[in-house]
Amino acid sequence: MKKSLTALVLASLGVQGLAWAGEAVHWTYSGATGPDHWAELSDEFEACRLGKNQSPINIVSDEVVESALPPINLDYTGSTASVINNGHTLQVNVSGKNSLTTHGGTFQLTQFHFHSPSEHQIDGESFPLEAHFVHQNEKGELAVVGLLFRLGEENQNLVSLTEVAPQKSGEQVSYSRPVPKLLNRDITHYYRYSGSLTTPPCTEGLRWFVIPVPVTISEEQIATYIGLIGADARGPQPINARIVLHGK
Ligand SMILES: [Zn+2]
Repeated sequence: MKKSLTALVLASLGVQGLAWAGEAVHWTYSGATGPDHWAELSDEFEACRLGKNQSPINIVSDEVVESALPPINLDYTGSTASVINNGHTLQVNVSGKNSLTTHGGTFQLTQFHFHSPSEHQIDGESFPLEAHFVHQNEKGELAVVGLLFRLGEENQNLVSLTEVAPQKSGEQVSYSRPVPKLLNRDITHYYRYSGSLTTPPCTEGLRWFVIPVPVTISEEQIATYIGLIGADARGPQPINARIVLHGK
């Protein structure tokens, strides 16, 4: 059965906007509902197999195009609102003004979440954790900043988050703190490319900014995350005709 029951019911009711219905389809990071099978789970997930601009990617430093990219300016003045364990990731929703400005315009942070191991790789190297800061502009377009972590000192910015994180999939707790200072206010050293959501429905047209200077996280913090969520990374996707720009 290709279409989910929910999608069929909604279609029979004439309900528009099936994109969200796809979220009800059960998918995972391994086995019969894992990344190699996402496109088979729903018609809405077709881009996971047919898309030519999928994320994540392995960034090959010899093949990037050096460019005079303007800095990414982050003005995060709002706060976090809640933490959700959705079974796929630990997601922190935010409120207030948390803006990202590039020459592509201004976007507002909607949420950030994590993947372990990292989804993006650099010269084939994977990292223990990657955070995705998801921003949206007024047209609904997305700009995502991918921040890589390496093993080292405990990350103080994430201590309170792992303390409150819900243990069970589907649970949400309120969490009101300043947005953690994991990113610099002006980011000058980054990779930029055009990609997709790294989870179903794998929608394309996202602006990706990957920061190659890893911040640290302790082994214990990684173990806590894996204990809560499990491994949650999609593997690198073909680069195809895309170029990756490198600003520094
Ligand atoms: Zn993500």
